[in-house]
Amino acid sequence: MEKRKLVIIGSGPAGYTAAIYAARANLHPLLYEGFFSGPAGGQLMTTTEVENYPGFPEGITGPNLMEKFRRQAERFGTTILTEDVTSVDLKQRPFIINGRPTCVQAEAIIIATGANAKRLDIPGTRDGEFWQKGVTACAVCDGAAPIFRNKELYVIGGGDSAVEEAVFLTKFGSKVYIVHRRGELRASKIMAERALNHPKIEVLWNHMITKVEGDDVVRAVTLQDVNTKKEIKKEAGGVFFAIGHDPNTAFLGDQIEKEQSGYLKVIPGTTLTNLEGVFAAGDVQDHIYRQAVTAAGSGCMAALDAEHWLVSKGLTH
Ligand code: NAP
Repeated sequence: MEKRKLVIIGSGPAGYTAAIYAARANLHPLLYEGFFSGPAGGQLMTTTEVENYPGFPEGITGPNLMEKFRRQAERFGTTILTEDVTSVDLKQRPFIINGRPTCVQAEAIIIATGANAKRLDIPGTRDGEFWQKGVTACAVCDGAAPIFRNKELYVIGGGDSAVEEAVFLTKFGSKVYIVHRRGELRASKIMAERALNHPKIEVLWNHMITKVEGDDVVRAVTLQDVNTKKEIKKEAGGVFFAIGHDPNTAFLGDQIEKEQSGYLKVIPGTTLTNLEGVFAAGDVQDHIYRQAVTAAGSGCMAALDAEHWLVSKGLTH
């Protein structure tokens, strides 16, 4: 079985950045970029224009940005496998990584498998319908797009994300509605007050969106009162899911410490997990910031942490 000093699992900004740093440190990393599990490049592959990644003043598309990350990782000698990792064995050292079909040993691992924004299966919001044509799951990434300017926008959810996204969207939309299935926000008090006191935000309590319609882009939503089941159609320019994220950590089983929500636990300010030699970077360990640039930053940290650990154990030869 092939043995590597470092294997990186995941191919978003965190994984590729870890690969760039590790390859330049002569660690000859192997990176699993995924195949069936989702597009290599992660969540940015389903984003259109990225306007907040520093260094691209004119903006850049998500796929284009990830292609550049990937090329940079390859340029310094990263081996990239277009395969999913189905399981890992962290109980023995070197660790075993079971890809499909490759199986390798690794002295150290960086987990950068990201998280996926949860979506609801509402007619009109699916891929091929209005997904990315007015329906998105990231206001911070997509909210400044021209199609949302001076339009009535709808955010689904009742947590901190929903409030944060709604407040962000007030810069662009004429009015922002938070559509929440209950009569009370889950968001922290301070965040909730921010939404409730904002002149451009209105919370639609006990409501759900049951249909999204439009032409080229979103033009209308159908709202349903969850108690009376009464429906009403309203003009709309955008729909934003803010109902939480699912970190991609199932393949690790219970071999490594996770939060109750499935996010990997790291020692704050580092990328160290509870297992020596296993590091975590990007959204898989970050449910707060979740930005491409913060993921890339933590990917860099993970490569440096892994390098220091490998050197300290005499495993770099
Ligand atoms: P969250 O706290 O889990 O809230 C998810 C919201 O979506 C809840 O209000 C939930 O409704 C709603 N929801 C879930 N499934 C739904 C469904 N099927 N249909 C309709 N609504 C549904 O997620 P989050 O807001 O993304 O926050 C995640 C974590 O990040 C939290 O710990 C949060 O504090 C943190 N965060 C912090 C900040 C900040 O401090 N600046 C910003 C963002 C996130 P119910 O309330 O009825 O369950």
